[in-house]
Amino acid sequence: MGKLFLVPTPIGNLGDMTFRAVETLNEADLILAEDTRVSSKLLKHYNIHKPLISFHMHNEHRKLSEVISKLKSGLTIAVISDAGTPGISDPGFLLIREAIVNNIEVNCLPGPTALIPALIQSGLSAERFVFEGFLPPKKGRIKRLENLIDESRTIIFYESPHKILKTLNQLIDFFGPERAVSVSRELSKIYEETFRGSLSEAADHFFHHVPKGEFVICLLGSQKNNR
Ligand code: SAM
Repeated sequence: MGKLFLVPTPIGNLGDMTFRAVETLNEADLILAEDTRVSSKLLKHYNIHKPLISFHMHNEHRKLSEVISKLKSGLTIAVISDAGTPGISDPGFLLIREAIVNNIEVNCLPGPTALIPALIQSGLSAERFVFEGFLPPKKGRIKRLENLIDESRTIIFYESPHKILKTLNQLIDFFGPERAVSVSRELSKIYEETFRGSLSEAADHFFHHVPKGEFVICLLGSQKNNR
């Protein structure tokens, strides 16, 4: 039996690649990448020369049995996504589940992911939190938000620059304008910024400062039952 490794890659700062991530990719027989063009640049930077095949949300179902056969034949396979940890709002889950069903060893290396630094530097409680990832664009969006109304843990969302304002305004509708929020963008990059304040202050800030880059929203949980 081979082994399956999930290897986190930097979310913006190349210095965040771990020694073990480089070592694991160098020792793999095959690397599955979400976007081979994006990953080729990273692998070139670290002088890693390994066979690379694409593995993304549009082909992961189709490629699953082929990858499992390769693992069963003894190959060591590493999975990387465009940025951060595979399986966190990125492909990986289906393969991990199938590998476990087939008794193949699965190892995820610790490493970069956007939610943890955003949560820690938000100043909101990190003792208990829920990760919501991206809200659905249309169907199911309202239901997801309704289900969070009484959530007392810190709530984390991922968001893109063109939807951040819409989402902040919608969060005001559900959680009220005074609810504390922290919005981090461009984590680990040159123009990294974290805005902390109320939801209405955050919406006002990003209305006046054109949102650029990638965003993580950390929202204070409901304080109703915490008193
Ligand atoms: N696998 C990644 C992880 O472990 O965080 C997440 C991939 S998901 C497709 C991309 C989203 O992650 C972005 O839209 C943004 O919400 C968040 N993200 C990724 N990099 C970020 C960064 N440098 N700063 C802020 N948010 C980031």
